[in-house]
Amino acid sequence: MAISGRVRDMPVLGEHPALDLVNTVFIRGGLRGQLVDALTTPADLADWIAAQAEVLGPLDPVPQPRPEALTAFTDLRGSLHRVVAAAAAGREADPADTAAVNAASRAHRDTVELPPAGHGPAVRRTDAPDTPSAVLARVARTAVDLLTGPQLEQLRACPAPGCVLFYLRTHPRREWCSKGCGNRVRVARHSRRQQDGADRSRGAP
Ligand SMILES: [Zn+2]
Repeated sequence: MAISGRVRDMPVLGEHPALDLVNTVFIRGGLRGQLVDALTTPADLADWIAAQAEVLGPLDPVPQPRPEALTAFTDLRGSLHRVVAAAAAGREADPADTAAVNAASRAHRDTVELPPAGHGPAVRRTDAPDTPSAVLARVARTAVDLLTGPQLEQLRACPAPGCVLFYLRTHPRREWCSKGCGNRVRVARHSRRQQDGADRSRGAP
């Protein structure tokens, strides 16, 4: 059972909207740590949506989400988590989860158009107001883009013990979801080496 946390406590935020949603469930405290859920109230969802504004485009004014919106987001998160985990492991996803992500993506109403100059940053047009359900559809659409496009190759489950997060390996030297995970693994390796050294000097096998 996860305890509730805050969006600002998420170890990784701003990775990719779809992964940011999956990564709202994280472990605080490493291997023997505790599972934390940063999306347990409508206010948490409002914080999370605000944190996505830069990536998902202008989102104001987003009305305060209702409890039903929170349920819709956490339902999509469950399906997305399983689909992303399967993709990162090279397995096929459960068809029910694929269908749930597709259903959310189908509600996406945005179109992109050429800017006046005919090239340059695309202009996004939407006939749906910036409601939480429009944001949900947009997140589902970014998930479809991620899992069917060139970024799929970069998708990784963080290999640090006691971490459940996903990230995009945008740089060959990026081995962990976050600096925190990298540091924890380095500290664990260091203390293991010291322990091995102590064992050797005591003549242990
Ligand atoms: Zn990690």
